[in-house]
Amino acid sequence: MKLIDGKATSAQIKEEIAIEVKNLKKKGLKTPHLAAVLVGTDGASMTYVNSKVKACEKVGFNSTLIDLPEDTTEEQLLHEIDLLNKDADIDGFIVQLPLPKQIDEQKVLMAVDPNKDVDGFHPTNVGKMTLEIPTFLPATPFGIMELLERYEIETSGKNVVVIGRSHIVGRPMSILMSQKRKAGDATVTLAHSRTKNLKELTLQADIVVVALGVAEFLTGDMVKEGVTIIDVGITRLPDATKKRGYRLAGDVDFESVSKKAGYITPVPGGVGPMTIAMLLKNTLLAVTKNFS
Ligand code: NAD
Repeated sequence: MKLIDGKATSAQIKEEIAIEVKNLKKKGLKTPHLAAVLVGTDGASMTYVNSKVKACEKVGFNSTLIDLPEDTTEEQLLHEIDLLNKDADIDGFIVQLPLPKQIDEQKVLMAVDPNKDVDGFHPTNVGKMTLEIPTFLPATPFGIMELLERYEIETSGKNVVVIGRSHIVGRPMSILMSQKRKAGDATVTLAHSRTKNLKELTLQADIVVVALGVAEFLTGDMVKEGVTIIDVGITRLPDATKKRGYRLAGDVDFESVSKKAGYITPVPGGVGPMTIAMLLKNTLLAVTKNFS
């Protein structure tokens, strides 16, 4: 079994980005500037946004955090987005999800200028991704594609099962891996909560991407020898032995699955750190337009 080290790979990508930023500055070009909008005080969201802002500093980007109260109205948030769309110094921005219930998430994502949509959630960018037109890819799937590429995991003609059909992970993963591209050309099955014969499907899979949000869901008896496992799940499980009172668990029962896997991503230290690195990559792409 070989561990796919997302922490080390993301550190390498950040170093590559930092070099590009230095080069941009040397040429007298603009310093990339990412803004993040946070509405409310959800613990996990605050942690994610803070890590994103910190990561910006590390690679030499400028960053702005717009911290809005829980009772922000949809109109107020749309106004903030309008300001960011018009601000020439901001290259890209994200609105941290989930949003409080008084705000229509879809309306907000639609309001983001597609050219600054470094999360890749705007329908224009989802459409471009689907049609294989170079654009911002959603950060988590982008990170997984990067891991598969950098670890030279063969995907062409392989059976891939993606578990979970969310708009931010499962669905784009299934689209990307079925495309004619690096880490693509696979035969993809997208499984979800209504899938009846999941174990039958996963036992056939060469690669399983697990993104359903149920801790330790995929077990060793569900996979074949040599399988590649990409574990996207992050669940906080109560753990009194930890100072913070919880531990992070993936969607994969690492203990049993790692015994059969050829490659596997750990949680933490697998897909999670890649998501932030690829958000930075998208922000750099917003400046350079150097989409490959
Ligand atoms: P989601 O919560 O929006 O949707 C879950 C999906 O799983 C649904 O499509 C549902 O049909 C499917 N599902 C639920 N139960 C199932 C079952 N028993 N069998 C098969 N499919 C089932 O999903 P999400 O937003 O993609 O999040 C999934 C997990 O990934 C969560 O733990 C989340 O925290 C994590 N996540 C991690 C990162 C990262 O950077 N590592 C990024 C995004 C999400």
